[in-house]
Amino acid sequence: MTVRTRFAPSPTGYLHIGGVRTALFNWLFARKHGGTFILRIDDTDAGRNVEEALAPILSGLRWLGIDWDEGPEVGGPCAPYFQSERAAGHRAAAERLLAGGHAYRDYARPEELDEERKAAQAAGRPFLYSRRFAAFTPDDAARFEAEGRQGVVRLKMPREGTLVIDDAVRGRVEFAWDREQDHVVQRADGSCLYHLASVVDDHDFRISHVIRAEEHLSNTPRQAFIAMALGYPLPAYAHLPLVAEPGSRTKLSKRKLAQYLKNPDFRQVAEHGTRIAERIGLAPEADTFNPVIVDFYREVGYLPWAIDNAMALLGWSYDDKTEFFSRDELVAAFTLERINSSPASFDPKKLWSVQDHYMHALPVDDKLALMLPFLVKAGLVDAPATPGQTAIVRRVIEASGDRLKVAGDILAYADFFLVEEPPMDPKAVEQKLAKPGVAGLLGRYADAIRGVASFEPGPLEEATKAFAAAEGIKLGDLVHPVRVALSGRTVGPGLYDCLAILGAPRALERLERARAQAG
Ligand code: GLU
Repeated sequence: MTVRTRFAPSPTGYLHIGGVRTALFNWLFARKHGGTFILRIDDTDAGRNVEEALAPILSGLRWLGIDWDEGPEVGGPCAPYFQSERAAGHRAAAERLLAGGHAYRDYARPEELDEERKAAQAAGRPFLYSRRFAAFTPDDAARFEAEGRQGVVRLKMPREGTLVIDDAVRGRVEFAWDREQDHVVQRADGSCLYHLASVVDDHDFRISHVIRAEEHLSNTPRQAFIAMALGYPLPAYAHLPLVAEPGSRTKLSKRKLAQYLKNPDFRQVAEHGTRIAERIGLAPEADTFNPVIVDFYREVGYLPWAIDNAMALLGWSYDDKTEFFSRDELVAAFTLERINSSPASFDPKKLWSVQDHYMHALPVDDKLALMLPFLVKAGLVDAPATPGQTAIVRRVIEASGDRLKVAGDILAYADFFLVEEPPMDPKAVEQKLAKPGVAGLLGRYADAIRGVASFEPGPLEEATKAFAAAEGIKLGDLVHPVRVALSGRTVGPGLYDCLAILGAPRALERLERARAQAG
C-alpha cells in the first residue's frame, strides 16, 4: 500500500491546535508507513493576502517539525499545491459530471428554492429540490437563459439507497442518500466549489487516506458521490474526534477565550504566556495570541516536541498509560485503530505537565541556546550575549532547575542579575523589608558574609546559618528579606545561588542599598 496523506488548511492567518492535531496524525501515519505527507492549501475562498495568511501556518508546522514532502515551498510532482491554481482541472471535472449525467445545470432562483424549502418544512418532510429548473437539454437551457436566469451546476444525487463508509475511526457509517441535497458544485461565473475541488485534488494527488476532523464527516457522502461519478477509487477515510474545550464536548474555538479563562488551568497557561510576551515587547492580541493557537507556544518558549506529544494524546492513546514518546517511538506506536471516536478535551494542565517533562530532561546547553534569545529580545543581554552574560545565564539556569518551565521563564529568573539596579516590587518590600529591625539585620548580615573566603553556595549557606543561630532568629526571617534585597522580589533561584551568581561586590552593594528601604 502506498500511503499518501494530506493536511489541507485554508489560509486563515493562524494555526489552530485542532489543525495541529489533524496535521500531526496525517504526518505520523505517512511516516509510519514510509509514505508521503502532502500539504495542500485550500485557498479558493481566501481573500487577496494568501501569502500573509499562510505564513503562520507554514512556520508553525515547521517549528513543530511536521515536515511535508510535497506542497508549498518544497514543490513536488503534483504541483501546484494551491487549490486556486488548479481551477482548470476542477472545471473539467464539472463538465465530466454534466456529460455523465451525474450533475445538471440548474436555473432556479434563490427565492424559488426558498419557497420549496418552506413548503417542505410546512408539510413536515425533508426538503429535496424538485429539479423543476434543471436543464437536461440545450433547449431547456436556452429557454431559462432567455428568462434572464443564470445556471449553476448541481449534483444529481441519488434519491434512494445508502452509502456505506468504513471509517477507520468510526467504523461502519451509513448515509441515506435521500438526506443529501443536490449540492452546487459550480457557480454561474464558472468557479467551482470546495467539495468538487477537494475531491479532484485528492484524486490528482493520489491521496490514499483522508484523515481529517470529524466536522467533515457530513461532507463525505457528497464527496464520495463526486468521486464515484468521476470514476475515482474512494480513499480510506478516518474522521478524527473533535478537539473540544477544556472539560467539555464542544469544539475548541479561538473566539471563546473569555469563557475559557474561567477555567483555572487554562487561565494559568494564558496569563503566564501573556506575562512573558509583554516582557519581550509583544503586544498580545487575543486573536492570534492565546493557548488555542500555536504561535502562543512558540513565542513563550515551549518545546515543539512537547506540543506534538501532547497533541498526539488528543484522541489517540497507545495503551492508555504511556504518556511520553520520542519522535521515533511515536511514529512506531501510531495507528489509526487506537484513535478514539469521542471528543478529546484540550487539557492545558496536561500540556503543561508534558512540557515540564521535556524541559526537565533538556541539557543545560540546550536550555541556554533556547533562553538567550528571550533575554536578547527583552534587551537584558547584548546580541550576541557577551561571555560574561552567558556565564551568568548559565549559572541561573543551573540554579533554577525545574523552576524554568518554558524558555521565556528565564526572563523572570535572570533579569535581576543582568541589570545594575533591579526594580523593587513594592509588595515584596512592604512584606519582607519594611519590618522593624530589618535594616540593622541586613547590615550585620553583610558584615558576616563579607569575610566568606569562597563566595560560593556551600560556604555562603554555612555562614548564613551560623549568622542566624548567633542572632537567635529563624533562618526564614533572614532569608526572605535578603532575597528581596538582592532581587527586588520574592521568587527566583535559591538564595545562596543568588549571592554566588551576583558575586561579593554586587551582593554587598545591594544589601547596603536595600537598607534604605528597610524598617
Ligand atoms: N480545507 C478544509 C479545512 O480546513 C480541509 C477539509 C478536508 O480535510 O477535507 O477544514
